[in-house]
Amino acid sequence: MTVVRHALVTGGSSGIGKSVAQRLGTAGHTVTICGRDGERLRTAAKELADQGVPVTALTADVSDPQQVRDLVAQAVAANGPIGILVNNAGRSGGGKTSELTDELWRDVLRTNLDSVFYVTREVLARGGIREVGQGRVINIASTAGKQGVLLAAPYSASKHGVVGFTKAVGKELAPEGITVNAVCPGYVETPMAVRVRQGYAHAWETTEAEVLTAFEAKIPLGRYSTPDEVASMVEYLTTEGAASITAQALNVCGGLGNF
Ligand code: NAD
Repeated sequence: MTVVRHALVTGGSSGIGKSVAQRLGTAGHTVTICGRDGERLRTAAKELADQGVPVTALTADVSDPQQVRDLVAQAVAANGPIGILVNNAGRSGGGKTSELTDELWRDVLRTNLDSVFYVTREVLARGGIREVGQGRVINIASTAGKQGVLLAAPYSASKHGVVGFTKAVGKELAPEGITVNAVCPGYVETPMAVRVRQGYAHAWETTEAEVLTAFEAKIPLGRYSTPDEVASMVEYLTTEGAASITAQALNVCGGLGNF
């Protein structure tokens, strides 16, 4: 059964976040999406609205604590207390560790990990999730949050951080009936996946098609997951049937990771 709530999805203008917004909206929830690029957000919001999803789009960089405070205040003003938080915004990033710049390291950690802390803290403090009952926090981590990914030390470190944060906050909020879980996608066909293949093609001096073949060979199901398959797990975690699942990190990865 679905209790209808206000869902805040960070990074909802593309890929997995847009699919999550679509699924949650179709399930009857009111959805707020955010992203840094106003134009891309408006395009995504129109696409979602055309599919019948009630969506509010707010411009915000979730790696900036002040913008996160403004985002949550605006989301609550627009759609009421937040019952579901999906921390989805993220970026790829890596290279040979000896050659990584401070800027790249900091930006990957800020975007993927600090943001999850900032938004979760604000939604707990002023977003109303404690008041609505059966609150749900879902963090989009990665199988890279459980196993190291070659040439992606900052990304792997950030996603391991998200998994650790999830498990700790899940225990903290369990007495209030708020569940906190991580969803760990493996390879998912999104604009980020295209950028990742381009990066490896450059590093390995090969073609993107060869990289795709090599990645698919590692996945027991032999294919990338779809954004909708990840969104389906997120939607499940928002249902009453998932009320006893908390402090977990659940893979959606075609068998790529199995722990
Ligand atoms: P994507 O690039 O298609 O979408 C990322 C979204 O995050 C975009 O809407 C972007 O605007 C937003 N974003 C990035 N930085 C932001 C910031 N500072 N503030 C606000 N919004 C920001 O990527 P995706 O593949 O849909 O990735 C979504 C999440 O899934 C990420 O956390 C990513 O790490 C994770 N993930 C993706 C894959 C994959 O194979 N695609 C695998 C595992 C995990």
